[in-house]
Amino acid sequence: MIEEMERYAKEYRIPIMVSDGIEYMLNYIKEHNVKKILEIGTAIGYSAIRMALVSEDIYVTTIERDQDRYNEAIKNITKMHLEDRIKVLLVDALDVEINDTFDLIFIDAAKSQYTKFFNKFSPLLKKGGTIITDNLDFHGLRENIDQIQSRNLRQMMRKLNSYIEFLKDNEEFDTTFVNVGDGLGISIKK
Ligand code: SAH
Ligand code: MG
Repeated sequence: MIEEMERYAKEYRIPIMVSDGIEYMLNYIKEHNVKKILEIGTAIGYSAIRMALVSEDIYVTTIERDQDRYNEAIKNITKMHLEDRIKVLLVDALDVEINDTFDLIFIDAAKSQYTKFFNKFSPLLKKGGTIITDNLDFHGLRENIDQIQSRNLRQMMRKLNSYIEFLKDNEEFDTTFVNVGDGLGISIKK
């Protein structure tokens, strides 16, 4: 089933987490005894399902704004009988109101909105909790922004860089940048 989702993602170009990135995150969840997770960016439910499978007492709330991907995620979660532990919200993450607290927040949606997601959801994080951000390397493109042809992509890379600066300067969190997968930020709430 997991392999089937990986094949589907490849075929339909769904940017699910790459293998060593997800393995690192699952390990982190295990080692830090994470039980309640908020994910921004469900896609087809791949990472949400993998996180839920770490342990039977893990609960995931995950947000997706695209109707087709949401449908696919629901299908996959139901097939895995995980519907009691994974709640998918079909909504733009910047429009939703969530009254809950979490041990871990995983940010993996529109790169240009990372700082907004962080500021909006970090109050829901328990003290000592972690925010993991995916794709901080963005396929290695960050190094040579000026050489990027597409204006949109250039703009997005600038925003990603300013998010990285924002994390470094943030005094409520200690962030380390881990060079696995497509680059992860691990931000621990003091
Ligand atoms: N975490 C998934 C991959 C997510 S891909 C995995 O590893 O399996 C990013 C997803 O975020 C896309 O499906 C996109 O539709 C969604 N997304 C982007 N911006 C969003 C927003 N503002 N609110 C909700 N979903 C968003
Ligand atoms: Mg990603």
